[in-house]
Amino acid sequence: MEQGSDYTNILNRAITVFFKDAVRITLSNPSKALFFLRTMWWQKRAAQKRQRWLRENLHVPPFLIMSVTNKCNLRCKGCVAFAHQGSRPAARELSEDRLRDLISEAHQLGVSGIILAGGEPLVRKELLSITKDFPAIVFPLITNGTLIDETVIQQLKGQQNIIPLISIEGNEYDTDERRGAGIHKRLQGIMKNMRAEGIFFGCSLTLTRSNAATITDTNFVKNLIEAGTRLLLLLEYVSFEEGTDDWVLTDEQRSHLRQKIEAFRAQLPALFIAIPGDEEQYGGCLAAGRGFVHISAGGDVEPCPATPFSDASVATVSLKEALQSHFLQTIRQQHDSLNETEGGCVLWTEREWVRSLLLPKDSVIIPVRPLGSKNQ
Ligand code: SF4
Repeated sequence: MEQGSDYTNILNRAITVFFKDAVRITLSNPSKALFFLRTMWWQKRAAQKRQRWLRENLHVPPFLIMSVTNKCNLRCKGCVAFAHQGSRPAARELSEDRLRDLISEAHQLGVSGIILAGGEPLVRKELLSITKDFPAIVFPLITNGTLIDETVIQQLKGQQNIIPLISIEGNEYDTDERRGAGIHKRLQGIMKNMRAEGIFFGCSLTLTRSNAATITDTNFVKNLIEAGTRLLLLLEYVSFEEGTDDWVLTDEQRSHLRQKIEAFRAQLPALFIAIPGDEEQYGGCLAAGRGFVHISAGGDVEPCPATPFSDASVATVSLKEALQSHFLQTIRQQHDSLNETEGGCVLWTEREWVRSLLLPKDSVIIPVRPLGSKNQ
């Protein structure tokens, strides 16, 4: 049986604690608090299902990251989704029916949450008519926010299990500089509307060397909470693009970030998730099914959005079959030697080794030094 029990128990407990905290910070809104209480029960059921499958040697991750489209209405500088598009085989997006079946199968297998990403997921107008049929699954929605109009807000009101996470870069200058003139102001208006309608939403913030001081500033975070934000997803920038290494946080900034997050969690009425920071408590990288797998817009099942390599597609096989991928299993089995010391993305750092796993056996690169360690 594939090893997995220790960190999966820690991960399952962390999911329970996360929703317990969600109940705590929404007590002033009883219907929201009740929803998170119910979600805690559903999450427990989902974890039990995953344990049962693990006994049958099927490793079901608690989360899927589903890029439901490659399309987007914006053209942000340094967009990771576009940076990787060239390395993914051109494929038609999964149909509405296939997406619905996939989510239904994920629910049966015990998947707890499906992170909806893209491109911009809301360019798929049918998306929220699919998610409404799965109240027991939590859908964090990574969105640029600009397509959240009155119609979408009314749909979100009816689906408490969707948590919009609006992508911003820091203050007005940071956001507009990367995402386009006027975007920051537009998003402030949209947040105001969602807050007025009692929608539980959050922000997704990518920390770079230049905006880290802004994003870790207590007043900046308090202003976001004042604007209605209840979940902050803090992502450390990973340099996927040539010439952006100096965007990556310094070690000093990284340790400062860890301290601030601890203080925010203790003092502020919001939830905080730090990537990759929080992965340390689960023994490091959660890709390749340890915590999640990525499903591309075309259906390829990949270790993570940062590594566009795959040996199985849900466009042609079931999710259950795809999760039995030898490629994903090999990466999980090598986990203990996959350690990233610079806070970046170990699979991206070792992308030649990852890519080689898909080549004929005699072409697989045998790492000459521990994976993840820098060239001596
Ligand atoms: S909104 Fe997201 S997907 Fe669209 S261009 Fe910007 S970073 Fe890329």
